[in-house]
Amino acid sequence: MTAIANVTVLGTGVLGSQIAYQTAFSGFDVVAYDISDDALEAAKERFAGLARTYVAERVAGADDASVDAALARITLSADLGEAVANADLVIEAVPEQLALKQATYEKLAALAPERTIFATNSSTLLPSDLAPFTGRADRFLALHFANRVWAHNTAEVMGTDATDPAVYATVVDFAGKIGMVPIEIKKEKAGYLLNSLLVPFLSAAGELLVDGIAEPDAIDKTWRIGTGAPMGPFQIYDIVGLTTAYNISKAGGPKQQAFADLIKEHYIDQGKLGVATGEGFYTYPKA
Ligand code: NAD
Repeated sequence: MTAIANVTVLGTGVLGSQIAYQTAFSGFDVVAYDISDDALEAAKERFAGLARTYVAERVAGADDASVDAALARITLSADLGEAVANADLVIEAVPEQLALKQATYEKLAALAPERTIFATNSSTLLPSDLAPFTGRADRFLALHFANRVWAHNTAEVMGTDATDPAVYATVVDFAGKIGMVPIEIKKEKAGYLLNSLLVPFLSAAGELLVDGIAEPDAIDKTWRIGTGAPMGPFQIYDIVGLTTAYNISKAGGPKQQAFADLIKEHYIDQGKLGVATGEGFYTYPKA
């Protein structure tokens, strides 16, 4: 099994910054790459914010010294060649656009050492959509994190038919070492495990509302009391954000599209986007 010591994360947005910070917090040296100095300035603020969050949310082992030590293990770079020159593993978290990701892998393939493993954090693309652009299909797979990686610490590991089982095992091992619970997925599946379960569940809830069967509160209460789950589907919609819910529903069948229209008219158009804006299906106290 290849030992992973140096990790490079491409993209320092919402997820990339969390992956980079969690990896550094777990003791690895990390290079965080983004496309411009402005993006890296924003990254610095994200990392400092994550350090504060780890202390505030009492992440295991987080204190003033350990969160600063994690910051010190992160090197920022806007030069792709320099960023990957010493990487054992590159985790890609650039925007969810197929052409952009493919172009990124083409550049990366030419610049990274042969030994480097590439992993995509893509939520909706399959690794086989990207593998031909990596120049190393055997050393490429998906490593998919959930938002707020320190708390929602699953890492879904999904290869293609071409992924070398030893590379897969290395990445599963690495995921465990950075405090994730590695979830091994045996075959490619759009939506991985979590969204394969969550999206139909949320759609069913949306359908009950669109059909006028019950109100969100009644649907959520039924799910919570009946299963012991902490949240019902409309509470989850508010956390995911109603813009994302709209985009996913709009691409679905007629019932889903009717639900998308309902969300738009009654919530999005009124600036009610969920927890992030303080109001969605429910209202939330100001942070
Ligand atoms: P984001 O828009 O917050 O961040 C993207 C970052 O990539 C930005 O900092 C941007 O400057 C940078 N970038 C743009 N072009 C680039 C390039 N060519 N090379 C390197 N960096 C570039 O996006 P995000 O929400 O962090 O999503 C990134 C990936 O993570 C996507 O594939 C998404 O599907 C996946 N993901 C997101 C979430 C989520 O909840 N946001 C959860 C799981 C997985």
